[in-house]
Amino acid sequence: MHELSICQALIDQVENLARENQAVAVKVINLQVGPLSGAEIPLLEHAWPLASAGTVAESAELFIEPMPVRVRCKTCGVESGASANRLLCGECGDYHTELISGDEMVLTRLEFDT
Ligand SMILES: [Zn+2]
Repeated sequence: MHELSICQALIDQVENLARENQAVAVKVINLQVGPLSGAEIPLLEHAWPLASAGTVAESAELFIEPMPVRVRCKTCGVESGASANRLLCGECGDYHTELISGDEMVLTRLEFDT
């Protein structure tokens, strides 16, 4: 299962940060996930308890916030929102756009118990 390995990679990251902060447990994890990151939020939430069992993040609350898809137009230069399957400029409708956000998975905040 793809999402399980994503969760495990996330837990590796969380464990490293917990160690750096000399934390005994992680209380809260905030994560931002873009629709083009390849991870489905409901599947991540489902895989999380399995992946975190027995780790420092076992009792952590996981909050996943969906990130918007944003593109920058190479024709008119405007940054706009776009839908995940149609990366068109919101200003002029051009398809010559580059992705600014929407394909990342970012750990935005952690709360530790020390
Ligand atoms: Zn444009």
